[in-house]
Amino acid sequence: MSYEAVIGLETHVQLNTASKMFCGCSARYADAPPNTHVCPVCLGAPGVLPVINERAVRSTILTGIAFHCTIAEDSHFDRKNYPYPDLVKGYQISQYDAPLCVDGYAELPADGDRRRVRIKRIHLEEDTAKLTHARDEYGAGVSLVDVNRAGVPLMEIVSEPDLRTPEEARQYLQLLRLVLTTIDVTTGNLEEGAFRVDVNVSLRPAGSAGYGAKVEVKNLNSFRAVQRALEFEIARQAAALDAGETLPQETRGWVDDRGVTVSQRTKEFAHDYRYFPEPDLPPLHLQPATIDELRAALPELPDVRQRRLIEQQGLTPYDAAVIVSDVALATYFDALIAAGADAKRGANWLLNDLLGLLKGRDESIETTRITPARLAALLALLDTGTVSVAGARQVLARMADDDRPPTNIVVAEGLAQVSDTAELERQVEAAIDANPKPLADYLGGKEAAFNSFIGPVMKATRGKANPALVRELLRAALERRR
Ligand code: ADP
Ligand code: MG
Ligand code: ZN
Repeated sequence: MSYEAVIGLETHVQLNTASKMFCGCSARYADAPPNTHVCPVCLGAPGVLPVINERAVRSTILTGIAFHCTIAEDSHFDRKNYPYPDLVKGYQISQYDAPLCVDGYAELPADGDRRRVRIKRIHLEEDTAKLTHARDEYGAGVSLVDVNRAGVPLMEIVSEPDLRTPEEARQYLQLLRLVLTTIDVTTGNLEEGAFRVDVNVSLRPAGSAGYGAKVEVKNLNSFRAVQRALEFEIARQAAALDAGETLPQETRGWVDDRGVTVSQRTKEFAHDYRYFPEPDLPPLHLQPATIDELRAALPELPDVRQRRLIEQQGLTPYDAAVIVSDVALATYFDALIAAGADAKRGANWLLNDLLGLLKGRDESIETTRITPARLAALLALLDTGTVSVAGARQVLARMADDDRPPTNIVVAEGLAQVSDTAELERQVEAAIDANPKPLADYLGGKEAAFNSFIGPVMKATRGKANPALVRELLRAALERRR
């Protein structure tokens, strides 16, 4: 039988606040030794009181606005109770029946059109401690607890089951990550665990409308793992249904090195979290003015930015898509234009020359010495004819290791464009004399032979010849030979 997959994602995003969700400990623990970002609050010592991190609440509202959600003026935190070694308090503070944001959507780019994926809710909670399973010196299994991560603000974005393919799920996640990094609420760093996904997937006969029992695969921390886990599950479920089995609702884990999911628990063993409103925190009541203020402060979103680059700056849809696909790249491009570069030329130099150069040097747009202002200064030298395109490429390569202004590099390295007519005239005549065959072709009416002389002139002048001038002088010299 042929089936259609029904997929919904729950995405956990660590917020990039300075401090943790309910205490003053630093939330930036990536390079910290274990258990150094810890206090009685995030350790859950009896008698302590949590305090809500305002920036985390603002970041969550901003996210809700970016995804067209309704922002709840009244919401509150709840206690989610379950015993596990990574949960030092024995409960997690989360939001259950009154989340901050509900009923939004994300728009995936689709052929010519856009496809809406509904977002059910976005709520705020705290991250758990990190467990590392290891062996002690006697070979016995031990679990090490690092509490640094406990209490880091975690935002959960829950989609409706609107996705249909693993590819679509990946697109949705890429869009989430792009929007969230654009509005600067997270680092979006997957390797550091700032972005972790639970996927829910079920199958139904193609063309039918109901939903099958969902299988949840928890804690995937790469887009590739999401895609592979979904592909595996879809094949596994289809084979089971074809064999006449009934699939239970269950939670499964992803075993990356084997490329399979394994059952963790079925519905009968589902946790009863015994949620109740967090008694140590006041309910959240937002002033409409606060929501309006955040709405007004929302940065330009990727789809709007892409339209602007195409419609106002004249970029091709392809170049615009590449530039907006990465926040650092888009920020660089905007700064380049602000520094006076022409949009199309700027996009070409950024995407082809600069990125190519950086790739070879294992550098990024954020670490390079070639700032937008310096690249704009180089492009200005190109505009005025001070350097040729070939010369500018050489200057660009030097700029990666050399902080002097491009114009100083041009002078010091003798890379200024040669517009000295007498000198170029000599090189043109030499190139013609050295290439009798193309000369005969040209005189015989083959216009294409014209270009054969340009390379030698450029080579002889080490790329510094003014190309427009070379063409003009070459045309005249060739005509004189008739
Ligand atoms: P629960 O209360 O069990 O957490 P939710 O209704 O909150 O279930 O849904 C959790 C996630 O599972 C959501 O992302 C939702 O889109 C997805 N989901 C719900 N039902 C299905 C289904 N039948 N198949 C696939 N995904 C589903
Ligand atoms: Mg759930
Ligand atoms: Zn703390």
